Amino acid sequence: MKVHNSMSKTKEEFEPINGKDVNMYACGITVYDDCHIGHAKQAITFDIIKRYLTYRGYNVKYARNFTDVDDKIIARANQLGINALEYSKERIVEVERVMDLLGVKRPDFEPKASENIENIIDFVSKLIEKGYAYPSSRGDVYFSVKSYPEYGKLSKRNPDDMLNGVRKDVEEGKKDPLDFALWKSAKEGEISWDSPWGKGRPGWHIECSAMNLRYLGEQIDIHGGGKDLIFPHHENEIAQTEALTGKRFAKYWIHNGLITINGQKMSKSLGNSLTVKDALAKYDKEVIKYMLMQKHYGSTVDVNDEEFLLAEKHMYYFYKTLAEINKFVNSNNTNNIVPELSLANELEQKFIEAMDDDFNTAQAYANLFDVMKNINLIIADKKKSADQKVQLLIPLKEKIIGLYNILSIFEEIPEEFISNLKKKYLNNISISEEEINSKIEQRRLAKEQKDYTKADEIRNSLDEAGISLLDSKEGTTWDIKELL
Ligand SMILES: [Zn+2]
Repeated sequence: MKVHNSMSKTKEEFEPINGKDVNMYACGITVYDDCHIGHAKQAITFDIIKRYLTYRGYNVKYARNFTDVDDKIIARANQLGINALEYSKERIVEVERVMDLLGVKRPDFEPKASENIENIIDFVSKLIEKGYAYPSSRGDVYFSVKSYPEYGKLSKRNPDDMLNGVRKDVEEGKKDPLDFALWKSAKEGEISWDSPWGKGRPGWHIECSAMNLRYLGEQIDIHGGGKDLIFPHHENEIAQTEALTGKRFAKYWIHNGLITINGQKMSKSLGNSLTVKDALAKYDKEVIKYMLMQKHYGSTVDVNDEEFLLAEKHMYYFYKTLAEINKFVNSNNTNNIVPELSLANELEQKFIEAMDDDFNTAQAYANLFDVMKNINLIIADKKKSADQKVQLLIPLKEKIIGLYNILSIFEEIPEEFISNLKKKYLNNISISEEEINSKIEQRRLAKEQKDYTKADEIRNSLDEAGISLLDSKEGTTWDIKELL
């Protein structure tokens, strides 16, 4: 199994430090606002990585933090006139609710900065003792970047070059513009904790180092996060932890690609941020997850209406195929069927091949298209008996659902998914199922009376409204044109 390591910028053989045990940490959300689609991509990526590693027999311990103390949280809470921690507590409940709705599994540990103050103070004290950090007379504590010679190894930046473009007018008490805050002295009206350096609160970067140490240990297998965190956040985490322990911190650095919205960077200032809540109000959770993961996790995903529509069409096709299997199996007597596993096993081999190659969900989805196409061919195959078909289809369906649950899809009942999506589209085009069925009946009668002009008129009017009719031996069925 290979994973792309941002540290070496190459795909490396995946060999955890302790055999089958995997410790994984991913940087979580700073809870000052609703979580957006970028947070969703990150959460889904590492959820899928955990699910896949578990499927491959690893025992994964996964921690993802909540940053609940931070400038933005304090500013927002002050605006609202409430306590910063109360505010972040409410936000965390909301983030968890939305992530649950999206069907992202919760990590094993969800540590919060405010609940790790003692560890953080301990960590910072030790860095001062070892000469990697220093307190200022104002009660701030800084990490001395120059004291850690390997600084810049993840982002491939040279500290000397970093000075270009960095503000030279440093904060009072900071010895070098590159140094970053481990502990911030309390300002008027800010939440604070007692520390050896006076009242204050942790800087952002230190919490991840302290939480990793507490929940996962000195060395971890996988450290993850969005690509935007490589510098300075992850660079600083490495410096803090490795300065303290003298050991390599994370073996594999895995970074997920970011989101653009209609080709533009997603940002608060552009006002184009899409919250997960808003996305869920418009799209099924699995459509969102499929849209975000149909490309490799490291790719940038552009979020726009066309991509969502395409994702809906694809998921509709997948679920319709699964429903076709159900229909076929239910309409044929399936007693004493001996499952024929060849196609199911082949699918699993291909799935493992794809996912062993740096969690290549894009390839896994390409395989899914192939197998769905094949299923439709099997069902239509005139040379195979019903028994032969059922022997192939039942294990295939079970295997598809089992494997693609790892990608966090096919957790819904096919018939329900289809009916919900159809309802949504019917709502958009303001036509009811009853109206369609009554028109189909009128058309049947017209045909019976050999009034083909009227029959065609009915078909055309439905077609214009966005409804396709499909005639077969069993009668006429309808579908949403846009989804076909
Ligand atoms: Zn972090």
